[in-house]
Amino acid sequence: MKIAVVGAGVAGSTLCFLLGRYGYRVDIYDITDRYTKPCGEVFPTKTMDIISKSKLPRPELVGRINSFQFYIDRGSRIELVKSFYSKKTVWYSINKSAWIDSLREECYMLQTKPIGNPSKLYNNGYSLVIDARGPFSSIGTKIVVWRAYVKPFIDSAIFVFKNKMLGFIWAFPHGDVMNIGGGFVGINDPKKYTVSVLEKILGELNMSIRDEKYSIITVSPKIELLRNRVVNVGEAAGLIMSLGGEGIRPAVLSAISLYDSLEEALPVVDRGGSFEEAFWSYARSLGSLIREVKTHNTLYRLASLWGGKFIEKLLRRMSSSFIEEWLEGNLSSVVKSLKLFFK
Ligand SMILES: Cc1cc2nc3c(=O)[nH]c(=O)nc-3n(C[C@H](O)[C@H](O)[C@H](O)COP(=O)(O)OP(=O)(O)OC[C@H]3O[C@@H](n4cnc5c(N)ncnc54)[C@H](O)[C@@H]3O)c2cc1C
Repeated sequence: MKIAVVGAGVAGSTLCFLLGRYGYRVDIYDITDRYTKPCGEVFPTKTMDIISKSKLPRPELVGRINSFQFYIDRGSRIELVKSFYSKKTVWYSINKSAWIDSLREECYMLQTKPIGNPSKLYNNGYSLVIDARGPFSSIGTKIVVWRAYVKPFIDSAIFVFKNKMLGFIWAFPHGDVMNIGGGFVGINDPKKYTVSVLEKILGELNMSIRDEKYSIITVSPKIELLRNRVVNVGEAAGLIMSLGGEGIRPAVLSAISLYDSLEEALPVVDRGGSFEEAFWSYARSLGSLIREVKTHNTLYRLASLWGGKFIEKLLRRMSSSFIEEWLEGNLSSVVKSLKLFFK
């Protein structure tokens, strides 16, 4: 039985690694032989537990983050409006590209070839085709995001918001440098603005910028697990959190769920059965993740309605309990989230 996975990012490489370990032949396609997509490279600590439990290679830890600062750009000045500090580590900062490359090395066969329409691969004799092309095949609003590494280093994660603009600028501790970037709805090149804002907080940056890259990210995604007989996983399926763009954990979780469902189904399919039951089992196992994505979508829409004008007010009202649950990836109900927000 031949399986094709299109996109060797977090979800595609995780799935391919797990299927390969199970002994199934998987062809994986990507535009590049090494993972080059930029990222903020942080995730809630519980993501590492998920990775360890599934015996996946662990990413290299390059930072532990427990201090967060929220700024607002008022044009004439940047003001710190909220700080959050936790005694425990809230986020890990990781070397994401090296981690994905280590997963890719274990994949049966990585072919560097862009695939425009994964469903056409069924013409090449594949029994199952999986789309893991991330934001390049998801349905939703796409934001252009710029990312780079800079010095100086500070030991706190920074977010900067601006009234009337949906999106944010970040600076996250990453080894002895900061991983910085930014993106806003409707802005095609966020670099200049991002650098000018962060220079007001961190100091001169231009001389230290390295490895700068652009990409896109999905906000307010439509969740679609199946399209033209192709099973979607990770951000391609719309599994990304609109408030903050957390997509690594959903990509890992959905790949593990798909693998678990396939593990049971593949011997049945080998004997002539269909993938249908495996697909439904995959969809069922994603229940709580889908609830979380939908909660983020609703909160994002509310923030766009109210916060478009009043992001500063929202930031000031945001309770520490809400910030904690948001950063830890625990917002799975709109009502509970709103109660927490105003607590
Ligand atoms: C700048 C930026 C910062 C981010 N920061 C964070 C963060 O700090 N924490 C977090 O959790 N999430 C973050 N995200 C989101 C996160 O990166 C993604 O949601 C996550 O990587 C999704 O994993 P995935 O496997 O679904 O897709 P990806 O990791 O995006 O992988 C998709 C793969 O598909 C390949 N591909 C694309 N088109 C084709 C094609 N036509 N044919 C073949 N292959 C193709 C790509 O080359 C890529 O390797 C960020 C995103 C961006 C853009």
